[in-house]
Amino acid sequence: MEQYDVLIIGAGVIGTSIARELSAYDLKTAVIEKEADVCFGISSRNSGVVHSGIHYAPGSLRALHAVRGNELFEELCSQLTVPYERIGKLTVAFEESQFPTLEKLYTQGVENGVPDLQIIDAKRMQELQPGVGGARALYSPSTGIVGPYELTIALAEHAHAHGVDFIFTEEVVSIKNRSDLYEIQTKKGSQISAKIIIDAAGLYSDSIAHLAGIDSPRIYPCRGEYYVLDKRLEDELQLLIYPVPGNHSSGLGIHLTNTVEGNILIGPSNDYIENKEDLSTTVQILARLREEGHELLPSLTSSDFIRSFAGLRPKLTPPEVGGFGDFIIEDHDRFILLIGIESPGLTASPSIAISIREMIANHIPLALKKDWDPSLTREERFLELPEDRQEQLIAEDPDYGSVVCRCEGITKAEVLQAVDRIMGPVTYIGIKLRCRAMMGRCQGGFCAPRIAEILKTERDITIDEQFYKGIESPMFEGLLREESPHE
Ligand SMILES: Cc1cc2nc3c(=O)[nH]c(=O)nc-3n(C[C@H](O)[C@H](O)[C@H](O)COP(=O)(O)OP(=O)(O)OC[C@H]3O[C@@H](n4cnc5c(N)ncnc54)[C@H](O)[C@@H]3O)c2cc1C
Repeated sequence: MEQYDVLIIGAGVIGTSIARELSAYDLKTAVIEKEADVCFGISSRNSGVVHSGIHYAPGSLRALHAVRGNELFEELCSQLTVPYERIGKLTVAFEESQFPTLEKLYTQGVENGVPDLQIIDAKRMQELQPGVGGARALYSPSTGIVGPYELTIALAEHAHAHGVDFIFTEEVVSIKNRSDLYEIQTKKGSQISAKIIIDAAGLYSDSIAHLAGIDSPRIYPCRGEYYVLDKRLEDELQLLIYPVPGNHSSGLGIHLTNTVEGNILIGPSNDYIENKEDLSTTVQILARLREEGHELLPSLTSSDFIRSFAGLRPKLTPPEVGGFGDFIIEDHDRFILLIGIESPGLTASPSIAISIREMIANHIPLALKKDWDPSLTREERFLELPEDRQEQLIAEDPDYGSVVCRCEGITKAEVLQAVDRIMGPVTYIGIKLRCRAMMGRCQGGFCAPRIAEILKTERDITIDEQFYKGIESPMFEGLLREESPHE
Protein backbone atom coordinates (compact mmCIF):
# COMPACT_ATOMS: atom_id res chain seq x y z
CA MET A 1 0.00 0.00 0.00
CA GLU A 2 1.45 3.39 -1.06
CA GLN A 3 1.92 5.65 1.98
CA TYR A 4 1.90 9.46 1.96
CA ASP A 5 2.30 12.18 4.56
CA VAL A 6 -0.59 14.10 3.01
CA LEU A 7 -3.32 12.92 0.64
CA ILE A 8 -5.47 15.61 -0.94
CA ILE A 9 -8.85 14.45 -2.25
CA GLY A 10 -9.89 16.58 -5.24
CA ALA A 11 -7.89 18.21 -8.04
CA GLY A 12 -9.84 21.46 -8.31
CA VAL A 13 -8.34 24.88 -7.62
CA ILE A 14 -8.45 24.26 -3.86
CA GLY A 15 -6.72 20.86 -3.98
CA THR A 16 -4.08 21.99 -6.48
CA SER A 17 -3.38 25.25 -4.59
CA ILE A 18 -2.76 23.21 -1.45
CA ALA A 19 -0.63 20.75 -3.45
CA ARG A 20 1.54 23.57 -4.77
CA GLU A 21 1.89 25.17 -1.32
CA LEU A 22 2.97 21.82 0.18
CA SER A 23 5.34 21.07 -2.71
CA ALA A 24 7.75 23.61 -1.18
CA TYR A 25 8.24 21.34 1.87
CA ASP A 26 9.85 17.98 2.46
CA LEU A 27 6.60 16.01 2.48
CA LYS A 28 5.34 13.04 0.52
CA THR A 29 2.12 14.42 -0.96
CA ALA A 30 -0.43 13.11 -3.45
CA VAL A 31 -3.64 14.38 -5.00
CA ILE A 32 -6.33 11.82 -5.80
CA GLU A 33 -9.07 12.67 -8.29
CA LYS A 34 -12.06 10.67 -9.53
CA GLU A 35 -12.02 12.34 -12.96
CA ALA A 36 -9.42 11.89 -15.71
CA ASP A 37 -7.76 15.27 -15.23
CA VAL A 38 -7.40 18.36 -13.03
CA CYS A 39 -10.10 21.03 -13.12
CA PHE A 40 -13.00 18.86 -14.31
CA GLY A 41 -15.22 20.04 -11.38
CA ILE A 42 -16.48 23.48 -10.28
CA SER A 43 -13.12 25.12 -10.86
CA SER A 44 -13.57 25.25 -14.65
CA ARG A 45 -17.19 26.44 -14.46
CA ASN A 46 -17.20 29.88 -12.88
CA SER A 47 -16.90 33.57 -13.71
CA GLY A 48 -13.12 33.67 -13.27
CA VAL A 49 -13.34 36.81 -11.12
CA VAL A 50 -10.73 37.59 -8.49
CA HIS A 51 -13.06 39.29 -6.05
CA SER A 52 -12.03 42.26 -3.94
CA GLY A 53 -13.79 41.19 -0.72
CA ILE A 54 -16.68 43.69 -0.47
CA HIS A 55 -19.43 41.07 -0.34
CA TYR A 56 -18.46 39.11 2.78
CA ALA A 57 -19.30 39.67 6.45
CA PRO A 58 -16.35 41.12 8.40
CA GLY A 59 -14.62 38.44 10.46
CA SER A 60 -15.84 35.62 8.20
CA LEU A 61 -13.45 33.17 6.52
CA ARG A 62 -14.80 34.31 3.14
CA ALA A 63 -13.75 37.90 3.91
CA LEU A 64 -10.35 36.92 5.28
CA HIS A 65 -9.42 34.58 2.41
CA ALA A 66 -10.90 36.75 -0.36
CA VAL A 67 -8.91 39.83 0.66
CA ARG A 68 -5.67 37.93 1.32
CA GLY A 69 -6.18 35.79 -1.81
CA ASN A 70 -6.75 38.87 -3.96
CA GLU A 71 -3.47 40.36 -2.66
CA LEU A 72 -1.58 37.18 -3.60
CA PHE A 73 -2.95 36.83 -7.14
CA GLU A 74 -0.69 39.14 -9.10
CA GLU A 75 2.54 37.52 -7.93
CA LEU A 76 1.08 33.99 -8.16
CA CYS A 77 -0.07 34.43 -11.76
CA SER A 78 3.18 36.01 -12.82
CA GLN A 79 5.15 33.12 -11.23
CA LEU A 80 3.01 30.52 -13.03
CA THR A 81 2.60 32.41 -16.35
CA VAL A 82 -1.18 32.47 -15.98
CA PRO A 83 -3.35 35.19 -17.58
CA TYR A 84 -4.54 37.69 -14.97
CA GLU A 85 -5.74 41.30 -15.21
CA ARG A 86 -6.75 43.65 -12.40
CA ILE A 87 -9.48 45.46 -14.36
CA GLY A 88 -11.78 46.69 -11.57
CA LYS A 89 -15.51 46.36 -11.02
CA LEU A 90 -18.60 48.53 -10.75
CA THR A 91 -21.39 47.34 -8.45
CA VAL A 92 -24.27 49.37 -9.82
CA ALA A 93 -27.34 50.79 -8.04
CA PHE A 94 -30.10 51.46 -10.56
CA GLU A 95 -32.49 53.22 -8.17
CA GLU A 96 -32.35 55.24 -4.96
CA SER A 97 -33.74 52.38 -2.84
CA GLN A 98 -30.47 50.49 -3.55
CA PHE A 99 -28.16 53.26 -2.28
CA PRO A 100 -28.15 51.97 1.35
CA THR A 101 -26.96 48.54 0.11
CA LEU A 102 -24.18 50.25 -1.81
CA GLU A 103 -23.16 52.14 1.38
CA LYS A 104 -23.25 48.86 3.34
CA LEU A 105 -20.98 47.15 0.80
CA TYR A 106 -18.57 50.10 0.96
CA THR A 107 -18.38 50.05 4.79
CA GLN A 108 -18.08 46.26 4.83
CA GLY A 109 -15.32 46.38 2.21
CA VAL A 110 -13.36 49.02 4.14
CA GLU A 111 -13.70 46.94 7.31
CA ASN A 112 -12.46 43.86 5.44
CA GLY A 113 -9.39 45.79 4.26
CA VAL A 114 -10.34 46.14 0.57
CA PRO A 115 -8.11 48.90 -0.89
CA ASP A 116 -9.17 52.03 -2.85
CA LEU A 117 -12.97 51.63 -2.72
CA GLN A 118 -15.03 54.58 -3.94
CA ILE A 119 -18.73 55.32 -4.32
CA ILE A 120 -19.01 57.15 -7.63
CA ASP A 121 -21.74 59.08 -9.42
CA ALA A 122 -23.23 58.51 -12.88
CA LYS A 123 -20.74 60.91 -14.55
CA ARG A 124 -17.69 59.04 -13.24
CA MET A 125 -19.38 55.74 -14.13
CA GLN A 126 -19.66 56.90 -17.75
CA GLU A 127 -15.96 57.78 -17.79
CA LEU A 128 -15.08 54.28 -16.65
CA GLN A 129 -17.63 52.44 -18.80
CA PRO A 130 -19.31 54.52 -21.52
CA GLY A 131 -23.00 53.67 -21.89
CA VAL A 132 -23.37 51.88 -18.55
CA GLY A 133 -26.81 52.26 -16.92
CA GLY A 134 -27.43 53.07 -13.24
CA ALA A 135 -27.39 56.04 -10.90
CA ARG A 136 -24.49 55.32 -8.57
CA ALA A 137 -21.87 52.60 -8.18
CA LEU A 138 -19.29 51.16 -5.86
CA TYR A 139 -15.97 51.07 -7.72
CA SER A 140 -13.50 48.40 -6.57
CA PRO A 141 -10.28 48.76 -8.61
CA SER A 142 -8.68 45.70 -7.00
CA THR A 143 -11.16 43.24 -8.59
CA GLY A 144 -9.48 41.17 -11.30
CA ILE A 145 -10.02 38.38 -13.81
CA VAL A 146 -8.04 35.18 -14.21
CA GLY A 147 -8.11 32.11 -16.43
CA PRO A 148 -9.55 29.62 -13.89
CA TYR A 149 -8.49 26.45 -15.69
CA GLU A 150 -5.14 27.87 -16.78
CA LEU A 151 -4.50 28.62 -13.09
CA THR A 152 -5.64 25.21 -11.79
CA ILE A 153 -3.62 23.35 -14.42
CA ALA A 154 -0.53 25.47 -13.76
CA LEU A 155 -0.81 24.90 -9.99
CA ALA A 156 -0.98 21.14 -10.62
CA GLU A 157 1.91 21.14 -13.09
CA HIS A 158 4.04 23.18 -10.71
CA ALA A 159 3.23 20.90 -7.75
CA HIS A 160 3.95 17.83 -9.90
CA ALA A 161 7.29 19.29 -11.02
CA HIS A 162 8.18 19.56 -7.31
CA GLY A 163 7.36 15.99 -6.41
CA VAL A 164 3.59 15.82 -5.76
CA ASP A 165 1.97 12.66 -7.18
CA PHE A 166 -1.32 12.94 -9.09
CA ILE A 167 -3.61 9.91 -9.16
CA PHE A 168 -6.47 10.17 -11.69
CA THR A 169 -9.67 8.19 -12.33
CA GLU A 170 -9.65 6.90 -8.76
CA GLU A 171 -12.76 7.64 -6.72
CA VAL A 172 -12.36 7.49 -2.95
CA VAL A 173 -15.09 5.24 -1.53
CA SER A 174 -13.82 4.34 1.94
CA ILE A 175 -11.73 6.06 4.63
CA LYS A 176 -10.66 4.32 7.85
CA ASN A 177 -8.85 6.07 10.70
CA ARG A 178 -6.21 3.61 12.01
CA SER A 179 -4.82 5.59 15.02
CA ASP A 180 -1.93 7.47 13.31
CA LEU A 181 -2.77 6.67 9.66
CA TYR A 182 -5.83 7.01 7.44
CA GLU A 183 -6.46 4.13 5.04
CA ILE A 184 -8.21 5.02 1.81
CA GLN A 185 -9.84 2.64 -0.61
CA THR A 186 -10.94 3.56 -4.12
CA LYS A 187 -13.77 2.24 -6.30
CA LYS A 188 -11.23 0.31 -8.40
CA GLY A 189 -9.88 -1.32 -5.23
CA SER A 190 -6.61 0.64 -4.87
CA GLN A 191 -5.43 1.26 -1.32
CA ILE A 192 -3.47 4.28 -0.13
CA SER A 193 -2.60 5.43 3.36
CA ALA A 194 -1.75 8.90 4.64
CA LYS A 195 -1.03 10.61 7.93
CA ILE A 196 -3.19 13.58 6.95
CA ILE A 197 -6.21 13.74 4.65
CA ILE A 198 -7.35 16.98 3.04
CA ASP A 199 -10.98 16.88 1.93
CA ALA A 200 -11.04 19.27 -1.05
CA ALA A 201 -13.76 17.36 -2.91
CA GLY A 202 -15.91 20.40 -3.76
CA LEU A 203 -19.54 19.36 -4.18
CA TYR A 204 -18.74 16.00 -2.57
CA SER A 205 -16.85 17.24 0.53
CA ASP A 206 -19.83 16.23 2.67
CA SER A 207 -19.81 12.62 1.38
CA ILE A 208 -16.02 12.35 1.87
CA ALA A 209 -16.36 13.64 5.46
CA HIS A 210 -19.11 11.10 6.12
CA LEU A 211 -16.81 8.31 4.85
CA ALA A 212 -14.34 9.35 7.56
CA GLY A 213 -17.10 9.33 10.18
CA ILE A 214 -17.26 13.10 10.46
CA ASP A 215 -20.64 14.65 10.99
CA SER A 216 -20.36 17.39 8.36
CA PRO A 217 -23.16 19.65 7.15
CA ARG A 218 -24.89 18.81 3.87
CA ILE A 219 -24.06 20.44 0.53
CA TYR A 220 -26.94 21.75 -1.61
CA PRO A 221 -26.01 22.14 -5.30
CA CYS A 222 -27.11 25.48 -6.73
CA ARG A 223 -26.79 25.84 -10.50
CA GLY A 224 -25.51 28.91 -12.30
CA GLU A 225 -26.05 29.03 -16.07
CA TYR A 226 -23.99 31.21 -18.41
CA TYR A 227 -23.80 32.35 -22.00
CA VAL A 228 -20.42 32.87 -23.65
CA LEU A 229 -20.32 35.77 -26.12
CA ASP A 230 -18.23 36.18 -29.24
CA LYS A 231 -14.88 37.99 -28.97
CA ARG A 232 -16.27 40.66 -31.33
CA LEU A 233 -17.56 42.39 -28.19
CA GLU A 234 -14.23 42.33 -26.35
CA ASP A 235 -13.73 46.11 -26.43
CA GLU A 236 -17.28 46.89 -25.31
CA LEU A 237 -16.62 46.18 -21.65
CA GLN A 238 -13.80 48.03 -19.86
CA LEU A 239 -14.44 46.55 -16.43
CA LEU A 240 -16.82 44.17 -14.65
CA ILE A 241 -20.42 45.30 -14.15
CA TYR A 242 -22.48 43.72 -11.35
CA PRO A 243 -25.90 44.79 -10.07
CA VAL A 244 -26.37 45.50 -6.34
CA PRO A 245 -27.20 42.03 -4.94
CA GLY A 246 -30.68 41.29 -3.55
CA ASN A 247 -31.07 40.60 0.19
CA HIS A 248 -31.58 36.82 0.08
CA SER A 249 -29.99 36.07 -3.27
CA SER A 250 -27.76 33.00 -3.34
CA GLY A 251 -25.57 34.56 -6.04
CA LEU A 252 -24.20 38.01 -6.85
CA GLY A 253 -26.78 38.67 -9.57
CA ILE A 254 -26.58 38.22 -13.34
CA HIS A 255 -23.57 40.16 -14.52
CA LEU A 256 -21.32 40.76 -17.47
CA THR A 257 -17.84 39.42 -16.99
CA ASN A 258 -14.86 39.91 -19.24
CA THR A 259 -12.67 36.86 -19.51
CA VAL A 260 -8.91 36.95 -19.95
CA GLU A 261 -9.45 35.38 -23.38
CA GLY A 262 -11.63 38.23 -24.62
CA ASN A 263 -15.06 36.55 -24.52
CA ILE A 264 -17.74 38.11 -22.32
CA LEU A 265 -19.84 35.90 -20.02
CA ILE A 266 -23.46 36.64 -19.13
CA GLY A 267 -24.68 34.95 -15.97
CA PRO A 268 -24.74 33.13 -13.69
CA SER A 269 -28.32 32.33 -12.76
CA ASN A 270 -29.06 30.90 -9.39
CA ASP A 271 -31.25 27.80 -8.95
CA TYR A 272 -31.08 25.05 -6.36
CA ILE A 273 -31.25 21.58 -7.94
CA GLU A 274 -31.12 18.00 -6.60
CA ASN A 275 -28.49 16.31 -8.74
CA LYS A 276 -24.80 17.20 -8.21
CA GLU A 277 -23.96 16.02 -11.74
CA ASP A 278 -26.66 17.99 -13.59
CA LEU A 279 -24.74 20.56 -15.60
CA SER A 280 -27.45 21.09 -18.18
CA THR A 281 -28.56 24.54 -19.28
CA THR A 282 -32.28 25.28 -19.63
CA VAL A 283 -34.39 27.00 -22.27
CA GLN A 284 -36.07 29.30 -19.72
CA ILE A 285 -32.86 30.54 -18.06
CA LEU A 286 -31.06 31.01 -21.37
CA ALA A 287 -33.99 33.10 -22.65
CA ARG A 288 -33.72 35.26 -19.51
CA LEU A 289 -29.95 35.61 -19.93
CA ARG A 290 -30.43 36.74 -23.55
CA GLU A 291 -32.98 39.31 -22.45
CA GLU A 292 -30.86 40.66 -19.58
CA GLY A 293 -27.79 40.57 -21.80
CA HIS A 294 -29.51 42.86 -24.32
CA GLU A 295 -30.43 45.28 -21.52
CA LEU A 296 -26.89 45.42 -20.17
CA LEU A 297 -25.19 45.47 -23.59
CA PRO A 298 -27.59 46.87 -26.24
CA SER A 299 -25.17 46.18 -29.14
CA LEU A 300 -25.60 42.40 -28.70
CA THR A 301 -26.90 40.45 -31.70
CA SER A 302 -28.24 36.90 -31.70
CA SER A 303 -25.13 35.58 -33.46
CA ASP A 304 -22.96 36.80 -30.56
CA PHE A 305 -24.14 33.97 -28.27
CA ILE A 306 -21.68 31.19 -29.05
CA ARG A 307 -22.30 28.63 -26.32
CA SER A 308 -23.81 28.07 -22.90
CA PHE A 309 -22.59 26.19 -19.83
CA ALA A 310 -23.45 25.72 -16.16
CA GLY A 311 -21.58 25.42 -12.87
CA LEU A 312 -22.83 24.17 -9.50
CA ARG A 313 -22.25 26.07 -6.26
CA PRO A 314 -21.60 23.81 -3.23
CA LYS A 315 -23.96 25.64 -0.88
CA LEU A 316 -24.28 25.08 2.84
CA THR A 317 -27.54 27.05 3.06
CA PRO A 318 -30.68 25.13 2.02
CA PRO A 319 -33.04 26.55 -0.64
CA GLU A 320 -35.55 27.86 1.93
CA VAL A 321 -32.78 29.93 3.58
CA GLY A 322 -30.82 31.04 0.50
CA GLY A 323 -28.01 33.58 0.85
CA PHE A 324 -24.51 32.35 1.68
CA GLY A 325 -22.93 30.26 4.41
CA ASP A 326 -19.32 30.84 5.46
CA PHE A 327 -16.50 28.49 4.36
CA ILE A 328 -15.90 25.68 6.86
CA ILE A 329 -12.22 24.78 7.26
CA GLU A 330 -11.63 22.47 10.22
CA ASP A 331 -9.04 19.99 11.46
CA HIS A 332 -10.71 16.80 12.77
CA ASP A 333 -7.84 14.72 14.11
CA ARG A 334 -5.66 15.03 10.93
CA PHE A 335 -8.68 14.97 8.60
CA ILE A 336 -8.87 18.53 7.30
CA LEU A 337 -12.34 19.34 6.06
CA LEU A 338 -12.98 22.09 3.51
CA ILE A 339 -16.67 22.45 2.87
CA GLY A 340 -18.96 25.08 1.37
CA ILE A 341 -16.11 26.54 -0.71
CA GLU A 342 -18.38 28.38 -3.10
CA SER A 343 -17.61 31.88 -4.42
CA PRO A 344 -15.09 33.42 -3.71
CA GLY A 345 -13.32 30.05 -3.57
CA LEU A 346 -11.21 30.71 -6.67
CA THR A 347 -10.04 34.07 -5.25
CA ALA A 348 -9.49 32.54 -1.82
CA SER A 349 -7.52 29.51 -3.03
CA PRO A 350 -3.94 30.78 -2.48
CA SER A 351 -4.83 32.08 0.96
CA ILE A 352 -6.68 28.89 1.97
CA ALA A 353 -3.60 26.91 0.90
CA ILE A 354 -1.44 28.88 3.36
CA SER A 355 -3.91 28.18 6.20
CA ILE A 356 -3.95 24.46 5.39
CA ARG A 357 -0.14 24.35 5.39
CA GLU A 358 -0.21 25.99 8.86
CA MET A 359 -2.72 23.36 10.07
CA ILE A 360 -0.48 20.56 8.76
CA ALA A 361 2.49 22.06 10.64
CA ASN A 362 0.59 21.29 13.89
CA HIS A 363 0.98 17.58 13.07
CA ILE A 364 4.15 17.19 11.00
CA PRO A 365 7.30 19.36 11.29
CA LEU A 366 7.74 21.13 7.95
CA ALA A 367 11.15 21.69 6.39
CA LEU A 368 11.44 23.93 3.32
CA LYS A 369 13.05 22.33 0.25
CA LYS A 370 16.24 24.11 -0.77
CA ASP A 371 15.64 23.72 -4.49
CA TRP A 372 11.99 24.85 -4.63
CA ASP A 373 11.51 27.36 -7.43
CA PRO A 374 8.19 29.27 -7.38
CA SER A 375 8.10 29.80 -11.13
CA LEU A 376 6.73 27.70 -13.96
CA THR A 377 7.72 28.73 -17.45
CA ARG A 378 5.42 27.80 -20.29
CA GLU A 379 5.27 28.41 -24.01
CA GLU A 380 3.59 31.66 -24.99
CA ARG A 381 0.54 31.55 -27.23
CA PHE A 382 1.79 31.62 -30.81
CA LEU A 383 -0.87 34.06 -32.02
CA GLU A 384 0.17 36.65 -29.43
CA LEU A 385 3.86 36.62 -30.35
CA PRO A 386 5.51 39.30 -32.55
CA GLU A 387 5.82 38.36 -36.21
CA ASP A 388 9.60 37.89 -36.17
CA ARG A 389 9.33 35.47 -33.22
CA GLN A 390 6.55 33.57 -35.02
CA GLU A 391 8.73 33.25 -38.12
CA GLN A 392 11.64 32.01 -36.01
CA LEU A 393 9.44 29.35 -34.36
CA ILE A 394 8.09 28.16 -37.72
CA ALA A 395 11.66 27.84 -38.99
CA GLU A 396 12.57 25.75 -35.92
CA ASP A 397 9.40 23.64 -35.95
CA PRO A 398 7.14 23.56 -39.05
CA ASP A 399 4.19 22.46 -36.83
CA TYR A 400 3.94 26.12 -35.81
CA GLY A 401 3.10 26.89 -39.42
CA SER A 402 0.03 24.66 -39.41
CA VAL A 403 -3.10 26.22 -37.85
CA VAL A 404 -5.38 23.52 -36.42
CA CYS A 405 -8.02 25.65 -34.68
CA ARG A 406 -8.96 28.53 -36.98
CA CYS A 407 -11.26 30.31 -34.50
CA GLU A 408 -8.61 30.66 -31.79
CA GLY A 409 -5.54 30.54 -34.07
CA ILE A 410 -4.03 27.47 -32.36
CA THR A 411 -1.22 25.70 -34.18
CA LYS A 412 -0.43 21.99 -34.46
CA ALA A 413 2.70 22.56 -32.32
CA GLU A 414 0.52 23.99 -29.51
CA VAL A 415 -1.95 21.10 -29.70
CA LEU A 416 0.93 18.64 -29.39
CA GLN A 417 2.42 20.57 -26.46
CA ALA A 418 -0.99 20.43 -24.75
CA VAL A 419 -1.26 16.67 -25.33
CA ASP A 420 2.23 16.12 -23.92
CA ARG A 421 1.51 18.22 -20.81
CA ILE A 422 -1.51 16.14 -19.75
CA MET A 423 -0.64 14.16 -16.60
CA GLY A 424 -3.43 11.56 -16.81
CA PRO A 425 -5.26 10.01 -19.78
CA VAL A 426 -5.49 12.26 -22.85
CA THR A 427 -9.00 13.66 -23.37
CA TYR A 428 -10.45 16.30 -25.70
CA ILE A 429 -11.48 18.43 -22.71
CA GLY A 430 -7.94 18.16 -21.35
CA ILE A 431 -6.53 19.43 -24.69
CA LYS A 432 -9.16 22.16 -24.88
CA LEU A 433 -8.44 23.51 -21.38
CA ARG A 434 -4.70 23.56 -22.04
CA CYS A 435 -4.47 25.21 -25.46
CA ARG A 436 -7.98 26.59 -26.25
CA ALA A 437 -8.41 24.55 -29.45
CA MET A 438 -12.18 23.80 -29.83
CA MET A 439 -13.13 26.83 -27.68
CA GLY A 440 -13.95 29.30 -30.45
CA ARG A 441 -17.09 30.09 -32.45
CA CYS A 442 -17.31 26.71 -34.17
CA GLN A 443 -16.79 24.80 -30.90
CA GLY A 444 -14.56 22.20 -32.50
CA GLY A 445 -16.55 21.69 -35.71
CA PHE A 446 -13.43 22.44 -37.76
CA CYS A 447 -10.57 21.38 -35.50
CA ALA A 448 -11.84 18.31 -33.62
CA PRO A 449 -11.46 15.97 -36.65
CA ARG A 450 -7.99 17.41 -37.26
CA ILE A 451 -7.06 16.80 -33.62
CA ALA A 452 -8.31 13.20 -33.96
CA GLU A 453 -5.92 12.76 -36.89
CA ILE A 454 -3.00 14.37 -35.01
CA LEU A 455 -3.56 12.11 -31.98
CA LYS A 456 -3.62 9.07 -34.26
CA THR A 457 -0.62 9.89 -36.44
CA GLU A 458 1.63 11.79 -34.02
CA ARG A 459 0.92 10.11 -30.70
CA ASP A 460 -0.34 6.66 -31.73
CA ILE A 461 -3.68 7.14 -30.01
CA THR A 462 -6.16 5.22 -32.14
CA ILE A 463 -9.71 6.49 -32.77
CA ASP A 464 -11.02 3.84 -30.29
CA GLU A 465 -8.71 5.20 -27.57
CA GLN A 466 -9.83 8.82 -27.94
CA PHE A 467 -12.10 10.09 -25.17
CA TYR A 468 -14.04 13.31 -24.69
CA LYS A 469 -13.88 13.62 -20.88
CA GLY A 470 -12.98 10.19 -19.51
CA ILE A 471 -13.01 6.54 -20.44
CA GLU A 472 -16.78 6.46 -20.16
CA SER A 473 -17.16 9.04 -22.93
CA PRO A 474 -15.60 7.74 -26.17
CA MET A 475 -15.17 10.49 -28.74
CA PHE A 476 -16.16 8.26 -31.65
CA GLU A 477 -18.84 5.56 -31.95
CA GLY A 478 -17.27 3.80 -34.94
CA LEU A 479 -16.56 4.28 -38.64
CA LEU A 480 -19.26 5.44 -41.07
CA ARG A 481 -17.41 3.68 -43.88
CA GLU A 482 -14.29 1.56 -44.07
CA GLU A 483 -11.11 3.41 -45.07
CA SER A 484 -10.46 2.88 -48.75
CA PRO A 485 -7.03 1.36 -49.52
CA HIS A 486 -6.40 4.39 -51.81
CA GLU A 487 -6.91 6.93 -49.00
C1 LIG B 1 -21.44 29.56 -11.06
C2 LIG B 1 -20.22 29.80 -10.23
C3 LIG B 1 -19.52 31.00 -10.33
C4 LIG B 1 -18.40 31.23 -9.54
N1 LIG B 1 -17.68 32.38 -9.73
C5 LIG B 1 -16.57 32.59 -8.99
C6 LIG B 1 -15.78 33.75 -9.21
O1 LIG B 1 -16.01 34.53 -10.13
N2 LIG B 1 -14.73 33.97 -8.39
C7 LIG B 1 -14.41 33.13 -7.37
O2 LIG B 1 -13.48 33.43 -6.62
N3 LIG B 1 -15.09 31.98 -7.19
C8 LIG B 1 -16.15 31.68 -7.98
N4 LIG B 1 -16.86 30.53 -7.82
C9 LIG B 1 -16.41 29.58 -6.81
C10 LIG B 1 -15.27 28.70 -7.26
O3 LIG B 1 -15.46 28.25 -8.58
C11 LIG B 1 -15.17 27.50 -6.31
O4 LIG B 1 -15.15 27.98 -4.99
C12 LIG B 1 -13.92 26.67 -6.55
O5 LIG B 1 -13.77 26.34 -7.89
C13 LIG B 1 -14.02 25.41 -5.70
O6 LIG B 1 -12.95 24.59 -6.03
P1 LIG B 1 -12.80 23.15 -5.42
O7 LIG B 1 -11.41 22.72 -5.71
O8 LIG B 1 -13.26 23.16 -3.99
O9 LIG B 1 -13.89 22.27 -6.18
P2 LIG B 1 -13.77 21.44 -7.55
O10 LIG B 1 -13.13 22.21 -8.61
O11 LIG B 1 -15.13 20.90 -7.82
O12 LIG B 1 -12.79 20.25 -7.18
C14 LIG B 1 -13.20 19.16 -6.37
C15 LIG B 1 -12.71 17.88 -7.03
O13 LIG B 1 -12.96 16.78 -6.16
C16 LIG B 1 -13.20 15.63 -6.96
N5 LIG B 1 -13.86 14.60 -6.17
C17 LIG B 1 -15.11 14.65 -5.66
N6 LIG B 1 -15.38 13.49 -5.01
C18 LIG B 1 -14.28 12.70 -5.12
C19 LIG B 1 -13.97 11.37 -4.67
N7 LIG B 1 -14.83 10.63 -3.99
N8 LIG B 1 -12.75 10.87 -4.98
C20 LIG B 1 -11.85 11.61 -5.69
N9 LIG B 1 -12.11 12.86 -6.14
C21 LIG B 1 -13.31 13.41 -5.86
C22 LIG B 1 -14.09 16.21 -8.07
O14 LIG B 1 -14.11 15.38 -9.22
C23 LIG B 1 -13.46 17.57 -8.33
O15 LIG B 1 -12.55 17.54 -9.41
C24 LIG B 1 -17.97 30.25 -8.62
C25 LIG B 1 -18.64 29.03 -8.53
C26 LIG B 1 -19.75 28.79 -9.35
C27 LIG B 1 -20.42 27.46 -9.29
